[in-house]
Amino acid sequence: MRTSFVAGNWKMNTNKASAVALATAVAAGAPARVQVGVAPPFVYLDAVGQALKGSTVRLGAQDVCAEKNGAYTGACSCEMMADLGVNFILTGHSERRHFFKEPGDVVAKKAAAVLAGGFTLVHCVGEKLEERDANKTLDVVQAQLNEIDPKLAGDKGPDKLVIAYEPVWAIGTGRNATDQQAQEVHAFIRSALARRWNKDFADRVRIQYGGSMKPENAKGLLSQPDVDGGLIGGAALKADSFLAIANAAD
Ligand code: PEP
Repeated sequence: MRTSFVAGNWKMNTNKASAVALATAVAAGAPARVQVGVAPPFVYLDAVGQALKGSTVRLGAQDVCAEKNGAYTGACSCEMMADLGVNFILTGHSERRHFFKEPGDVVAKKAAAVLAGGFTLVHCVGEKLEERDANKTLDVVQAQLNEIDPKLAGDKGPDKLVIAYEPVWAIGTGRNATDQQAQEVHAFIRSALARRWNKDFADRVRIQYGGSMKPENAKGLLSQPDVDGGLIGGAALKADSFLAIANAAD
């Protein structure tokens, strides 16, 4: 009953020509029954958006500024994203939280702006290794889920909210969560969403797994009952590996 959503987070990779080539190849090979999206660097959103025209592949942004406009050097607003045809926006990615020291209240403001702007929000949550070792995984995930304004998300509907569970220790490390570890946290997230809203809402929200997902481990992760797609970093930089993951979600 949930359509899987597989999104590629290109991070600070590609140049204009390779971004357009990658988007063109993804658009040509995307499976029909899976929602597929790509999130290029800001500066290539326009060119990638043009390359995706006429395809079902959605255009995503890796980040956004919560402010509407003004003196915010280096930042881009939701209105600018709308102007470029952006469909989904990531908030709370671990690299924003940890490398750029983005605190929870800033993440929360961004998530609210994304929902208010009518985009699909892909809200990333996940624990660091020391937090997992200290049995704090579910507490960390719950606190990060609390960054989403329940009223705003509820008003926009379950289709506009996607949660990406990305254990920090699995991102870009080659070490993925096991199928069971992923399912355990995904089931917890769904039950937390049901407590916050209701079971019907929670049953319709897509929960992606992210963290070293690749063609070899995708099928096992994606066949877990509460895993509804993936947020893919490294493996999204090549069309064949990204499309193999998207096909594994079919
Ligand atoms: C990510 O950064 O969202 C991610 C999942 O990266 P990777 O697939 O490279 O671990």
